[in-house]
Amino acid sequence: MADEQLLKKTKPEQPLVAYFSMEIGLDPNIPTYAGGLGVLAGDTIRTAADIRLPLAAVTLLYRSGHFFQRLDAQGVQTEEPVKWIVEDFLELLDARVAIELEGRTVQVRAWRYAYTGQSGYQVPVYLLDTDLPENSEWDRTLTGVLYGGDQYYRLCQEVLLGIGGVRMLHTLGHRTIGRVHLNEGHAALLVLGLLEAEQATEGAGPVTPEMIEAVRDRCVFTTHTPVPAGHDQFPTEMAHRVLGDRFWGWLRIYGQDTVLNMTALALRCSRYVNGVAMKHGEVSHSLFPGYPIHSITNGVHAATWAAPAFHALYDRHVPDWRRDPLTLRYAVGIPGHEIWEAHDRAKRRLIEFINHETNEGFDVNVLTLGFARRAASYKRVALLFHDLERLKAIAKQAGRIQLVFSGKSHPHDQAGKDLIRLVHQFRDALRGHIPVVYLGNYDMVLAKILCAGVDVWLNTPLPPHEASGTSGMKAAMNGVPSLSVLDGWWIEGHIEGVTGWAIGDRVEACLEPKEGMDACHAAALYDKLEQKVMPCFYRDRNRFIEMMRYTVAVNGSFFNTHRMVAQYMNDAYSVLESYYDRVITG
Ligand SMILES: *Cc1c(COP(=O)(O)O)cnc(C)c1O
Repeated sequence: MADEQLLKKTKPEQPLVAYFSMEIGLDPNIPTYAGGLGVLAGDTIRTAADIRLPLAAVTLLYRSGHFFQRLDAQGVQTEEPVKWIVEDFLELLDARVAIELEGRTVQVRAWRYAYTGQSGYQVPVYLLDTDLPENSEWDRTLTGVLYGGDQYYRLCQEVLLGIGGVRMLHTLGHRTIGRVHLNEGHAALLVLGLLEAEQATEGAGPVTPEMIEAVRDRCVFTTHTPVPAGHDQFPTEMAHRVLGDRFWGWLRIYGQDTVLNMTALALRCSRYVNGVAMKHGEVSHSLFPGYPIHSITNGVHAATWAAPAFHALYDRHVPDWRRDPLTLRYAVGIPGHEIWEAHDRAKRRLIEFINHETNEGFDVNVLTLGFARRAASYKRVALLFHDLERLKAIAKQAGRIQLVFSGKSHPHDQAGKDLIRLVHQFRDALRGHIPVVYLGNYDMVLAKILCAGVDVWLNTPLPPHEASGTSGMKAAMNGVPSLSVLDGWWIEGHIEGVTGWAIGDRVEACLEPKEGMDACHAAALYDKLEQKVMPCFYRDRNRFIEMMRYTVAVNGSFFNTHRMVAQYMNDAYSVLESYYDRVITG
């Protein structure tokens, strides 16, 4: 069959998977994401388009984005609405659905974004929008801010995403979706939308166990948070009020808890549940005993996160890497000097950017450590500064270092904001000894430059709070080894002295209480930096380059979304059979 015909045949009108996510990092110019969860969703969509997986995604529009972060000289964060021109990026659709919120009828429309994969295949993303003149002023703001507002605002958003999302897909003609993927619990109310559709086909009688089972059979739930506090909860009174009697009655079938817990609901309504790394699957299993919880370790979209210099390098040596990142395995054959040249280009890009932004005189020959992610407390952004004298002594004796940080704090997270200020204080305290910069408004653009341009990617989460983490994988796509606490993906990706270095060689070596753990991890971090990382970087450059090569071959080839989506297809969606049925029968 000619390629074109095959393409047509493998392009069924009906998506087999509907992917629901509160945030999606589609494009650096579309600020509808806050951090790792959204970027993962974006990388999933990019991969689905590359491999022609018939998938449609649903999220909210967020006309004001998450926020634009401004930092003053002391590191005090202020948040501004993101100004972006929706019409420049998205296509407005005619479809409308209505949704009841606490008895009010709210009109919802959708914008379409089509991500085109390497094969030319398009995956549609529908962004729901309530900013319509028919709606009240307040309801018009409902699709305004990602993770903004209070609990009531959030609940209304989640009703919109879940129930509104299902109704919108149906209105758009996507009626026979095989699997519905809940990327985190935010979208769990979609079960009500699915039940409603089941009920309609059965002539609007009562909800039956068969309908519940039919819905369960289609739902796949990925949990991303190993801490109970990270799970969305709403007072039952509020949930009942917002949802109304009919939907509330259906929810009660799924459990009679004292709160509406979105994770509990998602667990009960899904046939397949997974955590986002091996360890996280185990932790989730102990958090929610009684539910079989699988593990599918996260990945990143190879072509998105490899810097231009690495695109060129891989194109020369592993030309199929974009279509099949597994072939990065063959990076073991790339000559060391070419890896170093590519790294040097990525590093210069970063150093130039830093000097342009901060005038801190960063030097391309100096070992550069990077740390960038949301400023959540458990990520312990300030751990490296635990003992300033020790850090100064290391820089004096083992060689020069320079440090680059970035990351936003959630607007309501005072502890996170304090941490950003603290890093600025340490920056000032280290002046003359170690150059430190904190770059503002961390986003996908900055992440690309940072993850690729540093020499070593630092990660210091408080175990077991890091479900997976993905920024270290972005670094690995560029040969950048990690120096990280053994948590999340790093438990799988770490080979000591080969793909990077562990902080605290055994997970158990540093046990509670938290203060003890901080001191213990900080000491382990200094030891590793002084005795392994710096000697390797400065005095055994060939060995360092060898590690870069293994980082690509071992971790780049595995921690990518092509492998991850294949696992979802095999284990979670189990759509392969029906997919090929359709391809064959047209
Ligand atoms: C990848 C990414 C993250 C996630 O970083 P982690 O280290 O996995 O927490 C957060 N924000 C942005 C902008 C990213 O690109």
